[in-house]
Amino acid sequence: MKENQLSINHYNELAQLQKLAQILNPPLPATSRTVNQSEKPSILPVLCARASSFVSAFCCSALILACVVSFFFCSASTVCLREQNMPKVKTNRVKYPEGWELIEPTLSELQVKMREAENDPHDGKRKCETLWPIFKIAYQKSRYIFDLYHQRKEISRELYEFCLDQGYADRNLIAKWKKPGYERLCCLRCMQTRDHNFATACVCRVPKQLREEKVIECVHCGCKGCASGD
Ligand SMILES: [Zn+2]
Ligand SMILES: [Zn+2]
Repeated sequence: MKENQLSINHYNELAQLQKLAQILNPPLPATSRTVNQSEKPSILPVLCARASSFVSAFCCSALILACVVSFFFCSASTVCLREQNMPKVKTNRVKYPEGWELIEPTLSELQVKMREAENDPHDGKRKCETLWPIFKIAYQKSRYIFDLYHQRKEISRELYEFCLDQGYADRNLIAKWKKPGYERLCCLRCMQTRDHNFATACVCRVPKQLREEKVIECVHCGCKGCASGD
């Protein structure tokens, strides 16, 4: 009996102690749950922040790459344009034939005159007159090359062909000068009948003795007469 009472008392004490322990220390699962609840919202912002930083880094690198690529294409296209606009003779790839240094000063001088004529403001001139100086200089250039090769025979065929290829002389106009009756032709337009009234050539092509007006300047190029016998 005594033992039984002791065990009952012991049991009561144990029950009280357990209650006390429960009050002092709340059950573990509950605490772990609160920990988990408190951890869950803390992980999400971290993940979000990491993801956003990754995305922003990716965007930045893509932007930089796009900039580099566009810069490369821009510079490449500029180089291409520059090469296209450059006059043929000024590129280093052109191989100048022998004797070029002897004719180069005269051609450069005519080139400068041509540029001046092209940039002339044309104040007070008739519309047709503005082109006359350009025709005149183009004629002088072609005549200079023609004389050097066909008349004076001072330049090689290679240099002559080089000048024609590079546009220093008009190949078609020179071809006409080789034909009888066209040795002094001023420009190709003045010999074309379709450009004139009554399907005739320009008045400057008419020999002086057959013209009523002795002093003329044709409208196309300002020619004062280019018939062979004049
Ligand atoms: Zn003429
Ligand atoms: Zn004419």
